Amino acid sequence: MDKLIVITGASSGIGKELAIQFSEKGYKLLLLARREELLIELNLKNTLCKKVDVTDYNSFKQAVVEAEKHFKTKVDLLINNAGIMPLDKIYNLDINTQHAMVDININGVLNGMNIVINDMKDRNTGTIINISSVAGRWTGENRTVYNGTKFAVHAISEQARRELAPFNVRLLTIAPAIVDTNLLINTKNEEVLKGYIENKKKINNGLTSKQVAKIIIYAYELPQDISLKEIVLSATKQAI
Ligand code: NDP
Repeated sequence: MDKLIVITGASSGIGKELAIQFSEKGYKLLLLARREELLIELNLKNTLCKKVDVTDYNSFKQAVVEAEKHFKTKVDLLINNAGIMPLDKIYNLDINTQHAMVDININGVLNGMNIVINDMKDRNTGTIINISSVAGRWTGENRTVYNGTKFAVHAISEQARRELAPFNVRLLTIAPAIVDTNLLINTKNEEVLKGYIENKKKINNGLTSKQVAKIIIYAYELPQDISLKEIVLSATKQAI
């Protein structure tokens, strides 16, 4: 497979599973995360692993340029997947945590899009997949800032898609409900954590990363002239 795919946040959860499944299908991969050792441990073929914080535009761009040179092909798919979700009431979240959420969940996505967008536009092909959330559609308790970041990802993706459509570039928003990953690692409030885990248990822990990755790959592998615009998905037992 001659196509180069960039996945941010590939060291865990959905991003990691995307890396494994795309690699099994023979795609060329650039995997990014801050914990580079976890990317290397995956030991995937045709894969470059780079320690990149998505909020750092220059290192993000440098990694993409390097991968394009290495694989002698341009990025065909960028998956902006990296994200954090420190849950709590807004009055309990310190301002640095709030800013980190905005920086990673929104600016990280803008950085990725900016790095590949003009090239895709000029080549009249390419796909960008932004991992938002059902939290980008409906607000919910303990998610004030997280909701804000994911609403932003939805809005940015929707209008960017309209602006890129004439250039044959696809933009797909993925909006999962609960997926069984390490996303709660940044939630420090024990009570909030307990409530989330109890709720998750009621729906058999929600979707798996494997299931989500499979759906994303299905959407990407549709012919370039078919654009799935948004996929909202959850475990059947989860109402929202
Ligand atoms: P995980 O915590 O398992 O994975 C998050 C990934 O993001 C990690 O690989 C982490 O890597 C990476 N990451 C975080 N911050 C940065 C950063 N600054 N720079 C680069 N990479 C970063 O969670 P999920 O797999 O669940 O999350 C993936 C996406 O899915 C997120 O955008 C999340 O909001 C979204 N989502 C998840 C849902 C769920 O229920 N799990 C539901 C809906 C949406 P590292 O720490 O090594 O940098």
